[in-house]
Amino acid sequence: MSYTVNIEKELCCGSGLCAAMADTGFALDAQGVAEVLPTASELPDDTLLDIASSCPTLAIRLVDGDREIDVFG
Ligand code: SF4
Repeated sequence: MSYTVNIEKELCCGSGLCAAMADTGFALDAQGVAEVLPTASELPDDTLLDIASSCPTLAIRLVDGDREIDVFG
């Protein structure tokens, strides 16, 4: 993986979709908000793009170095 994954927790609605799509990369914390797991670094970039573009509130941000990725690009 080259992308870094961040979650804007204030945007997350707790749908759990990201964890359902890749439970090695995402989980819901005790507050029901998504968190990035350390093993997310093992997910391919195209999988991360799929997940980020599927998030209903666009809470998942992907960064490549200092460049934010347009997940719909
Ligand atoms: S898919 Fe988006 S809204 Fe749903 S739990 Fe993950 S980060 Fe939160």
